[in-house]
Amino acid sequence: MATQEIPVEKCSLHVPDLDELCRVLQKGLSNNFKNVSVKTVECPDLTQKPFTLAAKGISGSPRLADVGGVPYLVPLAQRDKVYNFDTVASLVDLPGAFIIGAGAGRLCTINCELMPNIVTTSDCTHGDNKSRAAMICPDDGILMIKQYDLNEFYILGNLLACEGKQGPVIEVKVSKRSGKENFVTNMRETLKAHYGDKPVGLGGTFLIESGKAKLHVMPDYSQVPLNSDADVDSWLKFREADAPLVCLSVLISHDPGLSLRVEHTHCFRQFNEGGHYHYDTTPDEVSYHGYFVPAEYMYRLDRPPT
Ligand SMILES: [Zn+2]
Repeated sequence: MATQEIPVEKCSLHVPDLDELCRVLQKGLSNNFKNVSVKTVECPDLTQKPFTLAAKGISGSPRLADVGGVPYLVPLAQRDKVYNFDTVASLVDLPGAFIIGAGAGRLCTINCELMPNIVTTSDCTHGDNKSRAAMICPDDGILMIKQYDLNEFYILGNLLACEGKQGPVIEVKVSKRSGKENFVTNMRETLKAHYGDKPVGLGGTFLIESGKAKLHVMPDYSQVPLNSDADVDSWLKFREADAPLVCLSVLISHDPGLSLRVEHTHCFRQFNEGGHYHYDTTPDEVSYHGYFVPAEYMYRLDRPPT
């Protein structure tokens, strides 16, 4: 879609003091994990292994973007829903932004899970695309993890955009899950319980260092309409993946009426594993280690009609 065709809505988010955020998350995560440590640290260089991000940090004017949505995927995919990363960076008022998150891609006309990890191109920035895609080969049903060099994504994306600078971030380490919530939901519900209708958005990256996680990978677009959750579940390809996995994640505690997807996380391990994160399947063995920043704004781009 051309820039001028994409409707943009914007709202300010509540940005808590980092140390306060640490205390809130420390308490909330302790209800769901046996070992919890949340503190403010200087962001490590995230271009290094295992993260291999396209920029060193997740700081500098952080903002979330919720682009398109599931209504453009089901019951039948709207193939004309095409978004350009450089355009999205401009629309969120941060040309040349570093962007990570979870979205849908297309490689050789085939639908795929996308792990956006890209420094976009502007007048003053050269792009660097380290995105990956998880794709189901239509011929044999085998999962392939591919370098994703394209500047376009499709249908939907849940993104953190920032200047890619190193700065103060929240480091979260948890292990041994004692409760039922997945890691991301646990953080989101914790923020929701504490901040109520003041929306707090986080974006960042985390490792699943040990254990296993349930993922799904979308196959190519369904030829028949997917009219129910059961239809969608039988279309998706579910798998259990071993750690380590690098996850790219965004969440928001409260939807202020923008029809938002409140959490979305995609993950990868080099070029042999990846997909959409649901939850870990090994509560005793699992450990998570991540870095997050609170976002200043939420941008809603091309909101689907209800
Ligand atoms: Zn997904």
